[in-house]
Amino acid sequence: MSSFRKRALDEFSMHKPERFFIETLPVSEYFGNNLFDVEKMRRYLSAEAFDAVQDSIYQGKKIGREVSNQIASGMKAWAVEKGATHYTHWFHPLTDATAEKHEAFVDPSKNGGVFENFRGEALVQQEPDASSFPNGGLRNTFEARGYTAWDPTSPAFIIDQTLCIPSVFVSYTGESLDQKTPHLKSLQTLDRAASELLDLFDQKACRVNAVLGIEQEYFLVDEALFRARPDLMLCGRTLIGHTAAKDQQLEDHYFGAIPSRVMSFMKDFETEAYKLGVVLKTRHNEVAPNQFEFAPYHAEANLSVDQNLMMMILMRKIAKRHKLKVLFHEKPFAGINGSGKHCNWSLITDKGANLLSPGKTPGRNLQFLSFFVSVIKAVYEHHHLLMASVASLNNSHRLGGNEAPPAVMSVFVGRTLSTILDSIDKMVSDNISADEIINSLNIVGKIPEILPDNTDRNRTSPFAFTGNRFEFRAVGSSVNVASSMYILNTAVAQQLVQFKQRACDRIESGASRDEAIIETIKEFINESSAIRFEGNGYSREWLEEANRRGLKGISNVPEAFKAFLEEKSIFLMRDMDVLTDREIEARYEVMNEIYIKKLQIEARVIGDLTINHIIPTAIKFQNTLIDNVRGIKELFGPEEYKIMSERQLIAIKKISGYIQQLREDFHFLIEARKEANKIENFPERAMVYSNTVLPYIDKLRRVVDKLEMVVDDELWPLPKYRELLFLR
Ligand code: ADP
Ligand code: MG
Repeated sequence: MSSFRKRALDEFSMHKPERFFIETLPVSEYFGNNLFDVEKMRRYLSAEAFDAVQDSIYQGKKIGREVSNQIASGMKAWAVEKGATHYTHWFHPLTDATAEKHEAFVDPSKNGGVFENFRGEALVQQEPDASSFPNGGLRNTFEARGYTAWDPTSPAFIIDQTLCIPSVFVSYTGESLDQKTPHLKSLQTLDRAASELLDLFDQKACRVNAVLGIEQEYFLVDEALFRARPDLMLCGRTLIGHTAAKDQQLEDHYFGAIPSRVMSFMKDFETEAYKLGVVLKTRHNEVAPNQFEFAPYHAEANLSVDQNLMMMILMRKIAKRHKLKVLFHEKPFAGINGSGKHCNWSLITDKGANLLSPGKTPGRNLQFLSFFVSVIKAVYEHHHLLMASVASLNNSHRLGGNEAPPAVMSVFVGRTLSTILDSIDKMVSDNISADEIINSLNIVGKIPEILPDNTDRNRTSPFAFTGNRFEFRAVGSSVNVASSMYILNTAVAQQLVQFKQRACDRIESGASRDEAIIETIKEFINESSAIRFEGNGYSREWLEEANRRGLKGISNVPEAFKAFLEEKSIFLMRDMDVLTDREIEARYEVMNEIYIKKLQIEARVIGDLTINHIIPTAIKFQNTLIDNVRGIKELFGPEEYKIMSERQLIAIKKISGYIQQLREDFHFLIEARKEANKIENFPERAMVYSNTVLPYIDKLRRVVDKLEMVVDDELWPLPKYRELLFLR
């Protein structure tokens, strides 16, 4: 067997479970130990400093210089006690990765030796020399200046003896260079809009939070096997590999017993996650072999995103201890399910009232329905942008693949609510009075009783109401979900503002409050009806139907990115004060740039695999066949030779055909890249890449996978799917 693969397989089969520390204390005893949470703040900060942080979190008040020194000093005391030696601003550039630049606490002291130091300025602001983060032209490299600023709403934490301080990343001219900034802005906008709509119902809330529960899907593979696959190492997915004879068709993995090696990893990971204050709730096998999921309990959206990114870092680190690799890629293996991050989203007031939870009284139902239809309308109005926000090279291999939502947006609300929405629509059209409608809502609806009913959960919908929240399922598993969530938040905020506006206009023209609200609800139902779909989202008919309804789906990724530049999208972001025109354009550039780079890397890797691994292997195997045929010829007479070599000769020819095909496609792949690279403009280049380079990657794969089926297993250089996919 090819020595590379053999060594990897030997290492894999000889793997012995690592000994790792198992926490035996109850979780509640060590929960949050590595998090600078409220309890630690109380212990390590002065009353003044504590209040300043709380006021900043809950009222957005600025923290003064003097106080920031006190806070820094308290944080340092805690972190150093916990063994931290370094601190870093932890931020989320436009790459979906997180970034950190560590600084040691120690400074030389004047009279020799060192002392631990952490000043307010260092806590509040840092200046990573960040010229090489993607910025879409917002920051000229000669300026190379961007700064990170502390986000006090997300608590600092310790990983690997480093105090990590969640931060935003902006340019000196004030433009955002990260995912967190627009997300925070969208949350503020949403808070304002939701609170104002609540006024209409005489409800007072100091704050309305978007809350998020993120279900994270991922794959695990053995580290030795991973290292023997250049495509997994460099692209995060397999670019070649024939499907295993058995993978997920027996449906025996989903919710099956967790393999013991994986269980050790999960326990280890969960212990560390609890120490970071993340309430992990569920863990289970997913549909595909080696695919798993975890979900923490939902939290305020900004915090939830930070926790998700923390968990991704943590998982990679812990996996190392177990000689495993975590694959967050949306589609690491062809032919079996890919991974997503389901975003469970709702609106909850500071008093704990969920605005998307149907109320117990008719009046409350009106409030629920107002928020509910506003979300639906938001998704309708910006369905193209929302879908585009999940578009990426990785996710394009997953969406619409009969395993994940299709690449066109729709909203599933379930039978009960569908009936209610339709009946409101009809009753208003029939001029039935507001009072009567409200009364009948209570009777037909029995809304309070619809809470999560598992028979009514359409898994094929990209955006589904699940009793007290919406679940956006199209988001990819590797991304920072803030990049989709800020769009959802902003779109919803816009509709909440519009709802209130229209209702108030009606009141001003003499309608009663309830009439005004009901009419507005009806109007929203009407205007957004095209987005509602209760059927099978995976079916071909739905795509045709969606097309008839005028819903814009996405079929090509760079084409989808253009949704960001539509007048409607730009207006939304500008009007709701989340992104400026320039910031949107910059993001658009970056998305295209990343798309090109990823595709370029994939093209290089598959080229290397084809030319330097697969073709030589095919030739070697072909030569043994040729030797064999020659031998037969020597030993036997022409009659016998003819019979005995016939199929062999066909096999030899077949392999020649594949080799020839590979060389040809490889040549065209290189040519296509050369041509594409001449194009200066990123969006145009991305388009050409998707139309000319991508097809050759697929073509090469098809042929390589055929070769895998005919070449001697002993010679095949890369671990196969059946070897990669079955951890025990
Ligand atoms: P599923 O059955 O869809 O796989 P999971 O139990 O895996 O669901 O995950 C559901 C997620 O939704 C959890 O993170 C949970 O905390 C979250 N969640 C529950 N209620 C709400 C809510 N009102 N708003 C947002 N998220 C919620
Ligand atoms: Mg789940």
